Amino acid sequence: MTNMLYDTLLGIHAGRDTPFLHLPGGETLTHAGFVARAGQMAAALSAAGLEAGDRVAAQVEKSADALALYAGCVQAGLVFLPLNVAYTRDEVSYFIEDSGARMLVCDPGRSEELAPIAERHNAMIMTLDAAGGGSLPDRALELSPDFAPVARSADDLAALLYTSGTTGRSKGAMLSHGNLVSNAETLAELWQFSADDVLLHALPIFHTHGLFVATNTMLVAGGSMILLPKFDLDAVVAALPRATTMMGVPTFYTRLLSDPRLDQALTERMRLFISGSAPLLADTHERFAARTGHRILERYGMTETNMNTFNPYEGERRAGTVGMPLPGVEVKITDPESGDPVEDGAVGMIEVRGPNVFSGYWNMPEKTAEELRENGFFITGDLGRIDADGYVHIVGRGKDLIISGGYNVYPKEVELVLDAQKGVLESAVIGVPHPDFGEAVVGVLVPAQAQPADEQDEGEIDTDAILAECASSLARYKHPSRFVVVDALPRNAMGKVQKSLLRERFRDLFA
Ligand code: ATP
Ligand code: MG
Repeated sequence: MTNMLYDTLLGIHAGRDTPFLHLPGGETLTHAGFVARAGQMAAALSAAGLEAGDRVAAQVEKSADALALYAGCVQAGLVFLPLNVAYTRDEVSYFIEDSGARMLVCDPGRSEELAPIAERHNAMIMTLDAAGGGSLPDRALELSPDFAPVARSADDLAALLYTSGTTGRSKGAMLSHGNLVSNAETLAELWQFSADDVLLHALPIFHTHGLFVATNTMLVAGGSMILLPKFDLDAVVAALPRATTMMGVPTFYTRLLSDPRLDQALTERMRLFISGSAPLLADTHERFAARTGHRILERYGMTETNMNTFNPYEGERRAGTVGMPLPGVEVKITDPESGDPVEDGAVGMIEVRGPNVFSGYWNMPEKTAEELRENGFFITGDLGRIDADGYVHIVGRGKDLIISGGYNVYPKEVELVLDAQKGVLESAVIGVPHPDFGEAVVGVLVPAQAQPADEQDEGEIDTDAILAECASSLARYKHPSRFVVVDALPRNAMGKVQKSLLRERFRDLFA
């Protein structure tokens, strides 16, 4: 019997004594060991009465067993639904109810709190902790690792992955075996991953980046991963000399740059640094290259589609861009109102189509119909343009677009000017309600002072000087009507700036 994702990621490794996971305690789990563990997880879930197509929600700490739980779900034909460990009881309740999950796997420390929720929604509950303890691994240990994979084909669901909730309530993206296999195989080839690679893995595994982009790709390639529980600067610096590649969000790179230990020698063995999930500033890209000699490869993807575009492995990795479409993926830029393609080089809505694109949002037929066209193009919600050489530039999210006095203001254009000013570490430009303009442009500034001495710009933030600078580089309607200075921008676990929180905080500035 065939199980598309299992056969591609796991079946090929049965019996292979090659290293797969280098764990924080110093032990190494082999591919064979991991496949066996997945088999036991599949057996335990199946013994609990779960059947093909059932959803398994998992709110668990990052560990080898948490990955084996994902793999076990694939093997047993179940739909894996990972949840951010930070989600509260009420949030977990929403996901269980919305997904109709039949099983919730959670940390033993939270089982008392979450049990009533599972019960309310008719879900079973099992536990798994970071050290490999809990009722699920206990049960798994009693069972044989030789679990026959449940038949699954390209269109069967493998995961229900909720979006990050940056622009509104998280939506459950239905991802099939075919979606995940296409992306994993393409990325392994494009980025030249091989069995010799050691990926430094410090990302969370409840998100597409750490789970699919990193783990699936490494499983296809047959390499190993240094599995760190989270991004801890000292731990990452200590692990870098043992790694050949790293995938990270932009904040990983800014934090590395803030550490004097980052230099050419530390990254000597590395062949590739990859960034995604949020915009990497061109300045970060350039500073990283100057310090280490490595040009970070930036790519662009999302929960609904996995990866869409990438900068080339060989060839120019262009700072501030997300590169070109993956082979087999089509990208077009359209007028958000009419849906017609815009003129070459103009800004518009980014739409994508390909074998990577999901089949719709769980339980949200209207939302699916709004964003997924009948011809297969997915309307990403991101605004961008394609330059003359074919590189895609993201200018921001459609929902962050500011319409001030009838004019469109793309926040990123203004942020780039603000970021370059003396005394400014970074900025976020938002629109807030305004009695005359509808929306007014507000520049939220973070001062450079928080940075270590060698990165520091001299002096305080001088908003008059900044406004004068805006006057010379931006049309008047794009100038911030007001500046506010904050200690730090609110970011989520993936390093995404939470502009909705800023808009909420400053909504009464002009009231
Ligand atoms: P929600 O859809 O719930 O509002 P979200 O879009 O943040 O949340 P994800 O699927 O985790 O949820 O993130 C995908 C988004 O992340 C993309 O649509 C894009 O806005 C952003 N993104 C990903 N990679 C990049 C990148 N390299 N540069 C700029 N933005 C990126
Ligand atoms: Mg989104």
